[in-house]
Amino acid sequence: MIKVAINGYGTVGKRVADAVAAQPDMEIVGVSKTRPSFEAFVAKERGFPLYIADLSKKGAFDKLGLSVAGSVEEMLKKADVIVDATPGGIGKENLPLYKKLGKKAIFQGGEDHELAGFSFNSDCNYRDAIGRQFVRVVSCNTTGLCRMINLMDKAFGVSKVRATMVRRASDPGEVKKGPVDAVVLDPVTVPSHHGPDVQTVLPHIDITTMAMIVPTTFMHMHAVQMEVKKPATKEAILNLIEAHPRIGLVRPGTGIKSTAELKEYAMDLGRPRSDLWESCVFADSIGVIGGKDVYFFQAIHQEADIVVENVDAIRAMMGTVKDAAESVRMTNAALKFTAI
Ligand code: NAD
Repeated sequence: MIKVAINGYGTVGKRVADAVAAQPDMEIVGVSKTRPSFEAFVAKERGFPLYIADLSKKGAFDKLGLSVAGSVEEMLKKADVIVDATPGGIGKENLPLYKKLGKKAIFQGGEDHELAGFSFNSDCNYRDAIGRQFVRVVSCNTTGLCRMINLMDKAFGVSKVRATMVRRASDPGEVKKGPVDAVVLDPVTVPSHHGPDVQTVLPHIDITTMAMIVPTTFMHMHAVQMEVKKPATKEAILNLIEAHPRIGLVRPGTGIKSTAELKEYAMDLGRPRSDLWESCVFADSIGVIGGKDVYFFQAIHQEADIVVENVDAIRAMMGTVKDAAESVRMTNAALKFTAI
């Protein structure tokens, strides 16, 4: 069993912890928090040993009946791999400790590529992650872009991508964040960071992205245009997506044309936390003009798509499963997940 510690049990950390605990070849040795919150009660309910960053705060946890197993450093020592899911920028502060302890660590998209020196996506570069000490799982938007671009590139060759990201303002639980009533260009300048981030995984792709933030919490929406080298048809693209384990099709028959309905659908399907681990491509939006210009919309559940990628990254770094498709199959099967 691969021993996994989750450093930072928040939006991403709690989801990765549940996904890891569901795998037949992995176990959670501990999760960490800085202060008591409802997530600490979730950890208790799940039976995950709870470690804290600052032991002087132990009294506050004790008072609430939350038993503390020890310090974060003690937790890290028990792990084969650490999933660092602390807020963006904290991973950089944690790196020296992981190095000192000689531990493998996975960072999230809130950290710079340079921190780990390797940015990961299961579809694109699983084999290159085998045996690595440090890996960064790219952000939710970059994960969504990489999946479709790589699929199209393998089938038709992609010569150019132009994409606009309409981003959720905050996660549903983040009550203090906005905007409440504005569309915020993020940034005003072009490109946004997403295109260069895709190039940390797929360096040969010509991609330029623009991004804006809108007052919603459910999901991001991408409007993607790409130019392909070999002629493509809508039917061929639909068939490729049907066969992909982590790209789902939002089918016309469902009547879904918004992120709100999509999340409602995930809830009705009984997905844990109504999570959509797959990229959700709107089937009706796929258009091919002149055989070479491809258009589509895809919705990305920011809190979820990177969760399954973290699980695969653990296997790759440990070198226990050498084949990406096999790891993806194992991860999905353990979560009883087949794309919509
Ligand atoms: P979050 O704020 O929801 O959770 C972070 C957790 O880390 C909190 O529980 C906090 O108490 C804990 N923490 C803070 N400092 C710590 C420390 N020094 N040691 C241990 N724990 C500490 O953040 P999040 O949204 O889960 O984001 C985590 C990372 O994942 C970021 O890099 C972010 O950019 C990335 N990411 C987030 C999303 C998303 O939608 N939320 C999507 C993709 C990637």
